Amino acid sequence: MHELAITQDMLNLVLEQAEKAGAKEVGEINLVIGEMTGVVEDCVQFYFNFLSKGTIAERAALSFTMVPTTARCRVCDKPFELKEFDWACPYCQGNSMEIIAGKELFVESIEVE
Ligand SMILES: [Zn+2]
Repeated sequence: MHELAITQDMLNLVLEQAEKAGAKEVGEINLVIGEMTGVVEDCVQFYFNFLSKGTIAERAALSFTMVPTTARCRVCDKPFELKEFDWACPYCQGNSMEIIAGKELFVESIEVE
């Protein structure tokens, strides 16, 4: 259910930016979502349709860029896509790693008219 709050925050930010730009309408909203956030595109789209009614973002198209969970091995220093429940480096089988991508959640850009 946390998509509702996330979508509301995202919409507030978009409207604020659009207002600053003196926009009449928001055409497109580009979102970057990391896999680790667990945010589901369909849910965001659903809440967005509901929340944006009556705002200048009402007809905006949402575009999603999903970022896979990526880790870097602390042993061999190679980056790799981290699969769920598979916490070992595919190159050296080491299990010491740091997450370098996958926690993203932000509005990358918006297009306004
Ligand atoms: Zn490794």
